[in-house]
Formats: sequence, C-alpha cells, structure tokens
Amino acid sequence: MEIHIVGGGLAGAEAAWQILQSGLTVVLHEMRPLSTTPAHKTGDLAELVCSNSLKSLSPDSAPGRLKEEMLALDSLIIAAGKAAQVPAGQALAVDRAIFSNFIESKLASHPSFRRVGEEVTQLPSPDEMLARDEWWIVATGPLTSAALASQLEELSPGHRRLYFYDAIAPVIAADSIDLEQTFRASRYDRDTDGAASDGDYLNLPLDKAQYEAFIEAVSTAEYMPLHKFEETRYFEACLPIEVMVERGPNTLRFGPMKPMGLTNPKTGHRPWANLQLRMENVEGTMYSMVGFQTKMKWPEQKRVFSMIPALRDAEFLRFGSVHRNTYLNSPEVLNPDFSCKLSPRLFIAGQITGVEGYTESAAIGLLAGRALVAKARSESFLMPPRDTVIGALAHYVTHGGLGEFQPMNANLGLLPPLERQRGESKVSKKARQCSAARERFEEYLSHP
Ligand SMILES: Cc1cc2nc3c(=O)[nH]c(=O)nc-3n(C[C@H](O)[C@H](O)[C@H](O)COP(=O)(O)OP(=O)(O)OC[C@H]3O[C@@H](n4cnc5c(N)ncnc54)[C@H](O)[C@@H]3O)c2cc1C
Repeated sequence: MEIHIVGGGLAGAEAAWQILQSGLTVVLHEMRPLSTTPAHKTGDLAELVCSNSLKSLSPDSAPGRLKEEMLALDSLIIAAGKAAQVPAGQALAVDRAIFSNFIESKLASHPSFRRVGEEVTQLPSPDEMLARDEWWIVATGPLTSAALASQLEELSPGHRRLYFYDAIAPVIAADSIDLEQTFRASRYDRDTDGAASDGDYLNLPLDKAQYEAFIEAVSTAEYMPLHKFEETRYFEACLPIEVMVERGPNTLRFGPMKPMGLTNPKTGHRPWANLQLRMENVEGTMYSMVGFQTKMKWPEQKRVFSMIPALRDAEFLRFGSVHRNTYLNSPEVLNPDFSCKLSPRLFIAGQITGVEGYTESAAIGLLAGRALVAKARSESFLMPPRDTVIGALAHYVTHGGLGEFQPMNANLGLLPPLERQRGESKVSKKARQCSAARERFEEYLSHP
C-alpha cells in the first residue's frame, strides 16, 4: 500500500506526519521550488505565506481550544509552532524559518517518508488507485495549480464545483447584536421562496445622518492591499462594499443597504438605508451581513461596522475578506471523513476544503490523515464530536451552513449554542463554552 500526498503546505505536512505515526509510508509531492504559487517565496514545507501568527493561545477562545485539541492529537504543526514561538502576547507567533525547518527535519528524518519535487497535474482514477493499492490526499491549498484545479472540478457530482474567489461578508455572534435596534422582516414580507413570511432577516435600519456618517467612514477606512495576482478580478455580482461606495454615496442604498419593501415597525416608515443580517447556521448563533464583502482591515471592520446602532457591541466571529482562494463545494463533494464521494480512495485536506487559516488547514490535514489510515486498514474512525472545536470545524466543512458554502475559520459560533445565564458576562459565557468543549474532547480521547 502506498499513500501519496499532493502539497507540502500546512495541511499536507500535518497529514503526512499523522500517517507516518501510524507506521504507513508517505510519498509527498510538492511542486515548489521547481514551480511556485503567486504567494509562496521559498521551497520550504509548510511555508507561512503571510502573517507569522497562528492566532490566539487563550484557552477560552476557539483558536486556543483548537490548538489544545490538535496538540492532544499529536499535531506536528502545533509542535512546530511551540518550538518556533516568538513573544506575541496571547498569540502563537513564530519565527517562520525555524517553524518550517522543524517540520522539514521531522518529516525528512522519518524512514518511511519520501519527498518528490514535482507538480502533480493528473490524479490517478479511482480504478487505478484500487489496482495499484494507492491512497491519495490532495492538500494543494488556496493557490492550487491550474491543471490540478481543473481536474478537481470533475469531483463534483452536481452543479457547483470549485470556487476561485472568496468574497466573504463578516459573521457576527447572535448574542452580541442589540435586538432593540433591529426588526425582523423579509423584503415585501416574502421569504426567499417568495412565500408570505414573518421575516427571515434581521433588519438594521439607519437614518440619513447615520448612513452618511457610515459612508464617510467606509470611504476613509484602511484596506488590505491587493496582491498583484488579484487585481481587477471582482465579480460584478459580489463587489466589495468599498468599491460600491467609490461609485457614489448612494450606491449602497441601491445595493445591499436598500430599504425597498421594508417598513420599520417602530417608526412606521421605510428606513433611509437598511442592512440585512441572515442566519448563518440552524442553531441561530451566527448571523452574516448580507452583501457586505470587504477588504477593509480587520480592526477597521470592527470600528466602521460598530457605527451601525445594532452592532455597537458586535462580536465578529469572522471578518469579511475578498481574495483568491480555490476551494471545493465540500458538503457536496466530500464524505464526512474527507474522502471524495466520486473517488473513495482520494481524500482532500486543508484550505481547499473550505476552511480559512493556517491552523484550521492543518487541523483538517490532521483529521484527513487519520481518517485515511483508518479507511485503508478497514477500521472505523470516529470524528471528534461537534461540540469540540476541531469537530465543529470538520462538521461545517462536510455539511455546510444555511446559505451558499463559504470558507470558515474556527469560532465559538460553530459550537452548539449555550444560553447565557442571568447576569453572566460574554467573557464568562465563552469560558463556559470552551470548558464544555474541553470536557467533550477529553471524553472523546478516552473513548475514541
Ligand atoms: C496571499 C495569501 C495570504 C494569506 N495569509 C494568511 C494569514 O496571514 N494567516 C492565515 O492563517 N492564513 C492565511 N492565508 C491562508 C493560507 O494560505 C492558509 O491558511 C494555509 O496556508 C493553507 O494551508 P494548506 O496546506 O491548505 O495550503 P498551502 O499552505 O498553500 O499549501 C499548499 C501546497 O501545495 C503546493 N501545490 C499546489 N498545487 C500543487 C500541485 N499541483 N502539485 C504539487 N504541489 C502543489 C503548493 O506549492 C503549496 O506548498 C493566506 C492565503 C493567501 C493566498
């Protein structure tokens, strides 16, 4: 039996490590430095393409819990993060050269590991894998090379195959929205199927002065720079709000902030402008800002969006972004163990499954590696449960949320909801959620 991994990024390196620990042999195909992506600069495994932070270590945060869970599952990436740590307060920031070297040396010194320097342009068919007793993992990331990306498109049995762009609107914790400043209604009292409705959306009305101040803030905020390879690639159907504002101060009022078909029951009038929030999960713990994709820097998103009265104290579970990102419509393409519905010996891992971030990508590499080993040995594999952070992330990827599938980071909104106790602060509710997740994870470890 031979196991092949395509892509030696965060996910591919983590999957390789997990498989090697089980005693199986790994062949890792990495195209760098022979051929590269528009963002990578070296030929190193697990290169961090941008920031050197793996996010928070706080045990009372989703990223902190995720790291603890991964460490307990023998994560190479988190071990490397700890070995390469540089001071950064609560965050796990790393020296990127030490980080990559740690990973390279752990893998390269393993007797069952082989690295092949090549771009994989064609994957074997399901029959070929079976005949050759091979198993494959594709972990080629957001900048998957073009030839392989077009082959991956064939993995989808349905209509939505591969996405090449993120155009992500921010997601907000439901319990941080000031409901007094909102009203529930669908436009023209119709739900998304056109039937009469009490209101699928939370509406956040703005008066003229509030709208004008908001537009001024959007036009003067700070934005993430565009990468060269990303320029002028916006789709007209999902323009960032700042691009709309550049076209004129009223463009948003005729776009995602249009008040048409809405009456604010508190005033009896149509608002001057109106932002709609849509439920992001069935539990109703997360809401997304409809049509509010943006490249505003994260602290700026918090500052500018908090000008909307209902969002004064909003907690952002995911910030908006627009960037190049190749990812699958995973709920349609993947089984819950990350194997492909149309190619059962082929697994997909990392950012290309629809997670966002270094640690999240490695987490899916970890699970896909373990799940592959179990399947190759005809053993059963139990995914971590949904009330752990890694389990919630895995569940999101393979089952999706309510709307169109979009990439997701680790956040507490993915966990089953917890009622806030009387007088409980948001901070202590989060701590309680994290401690419940910790307990569930420990249970999982003791009865995997
Ligand atoms: C410009 C940019 C900036 C980002 N900034 C951040 C950030 O600051 N923080 C953060 O958490 N996340 C960031 N991300 C997301 C980040 O890319 C992922 O979090 C993470 O790197 C994904 O891990 P991965 O293993 O899935 O993919 P990658 O780490 O990208 O690894 C994929 C590997 O596959 C290789 N490959 C691709 N195609 C082939 C092929 N056909 N054959 C062989 N090898 C191939 C690539 O060379 C690469 O080494 C950024 C992404 C981009 C594009």
